[in-house]
Amino acid sequence: MTNKPLIVITGASSGFGAEIAKIFNEAGFPELLLSRRTQKIKELPLDFSNVLVEEVDVTDKEQFETAVNKAVAKFGPVDLLVNNAGLMLLGNIQNQDPKEWQTMLDTNVMGVLNGMQIVLNEMIERQSGTIINMSSLAGKKTFTNHAAYVASKYGVHGLTETVREEVSGKNVRVAVVAPGAAETELLTHVTDEGALESYQEWKNAMGGVVLDPKHVAEVVKFIYDMPQDVTIREIDIAPTRQD
Ligand code: NDP
Repeated sequence: MTNKPLIVITGASSGFGAEIAKIFNEAGFPELLLSRRTQKIKELPLDFSNVLVEEVDVTDKEQFETAVNKAVAKFGPVDLLVNNAGLMLLGNIQNQDPKEWQTMLDTNVMGVLNGMQIVLNEMIERQSGTIINMSSLAGKKTFTNHAAYVASKYGVHGLTETVREEVSGKNVRVAVVAPGAAETELLTHVTDEGALESYQEWKNAMGGVVLDPKHVAEVVKFIYDMPQDVTIREIDIAPTRQD
């Protein structure tokens, strides 16, 4: 049994979340790993002896909270929540189905707010704990065909900094990570062929090199590994050639 504290990661079934799960698993932390497709998490190369896997849609706060409570009962308080789950549905504002905007805002913004509300009271009471929200460079600058995604990620930047200011006096850390392009499953949900083509052209123009998700996981670990009284408020990480 480990004496390390509990780490909760949303969107652990692929991409960045799976790499973040691996890096903390290798370091011996107990983990609660969440996503809708739990089978994919169970197939990750992890030591599952101190891992709890739960099927959670982050837009469903009750389901999210039930899973966290189960892990807390087993492993103790949440010391790090990584709000990583997210969705990017690219599209032109004139044609995109508004349901896609709603899904992105629900997942990328409401999902993050849900997670923060679930863990914050206990962290404030304990005067310790860390929340790291996965935003994007699309939370700082614009990209063609990204209107609703950009809106959701500017939202993540704004809410992260707001809550950081609110809870910093209680020694709770809140940080945001803003990655550039990586090829995970993120693009596989895009239904607009034109938007996908324009993404490929943009990628080719910057030399075709994208981020390895492993480096994003290293950034998350680096933020967490600082002493509790040091907050790295934001890290931007992108392929060198990305504009
Ligand atoms: P992936 O599509 O590979 O991973 C997304 C993860 O989120 C999956 O594990 C998925 O699991 C989970 N997820 C999606 N919707 C929900 C939901 N409603 N409830 C619970 N889990 C959900 O993409 P990435 O790894 O690339 O994305 C991770 C984060 O990084 C996102 O927030 C994304 O916006 C951000 N990002 C990605 C960049 C990139 O270029 N890839 C760049 C910048 C930021 P499941 O489907 O099993 O539920």
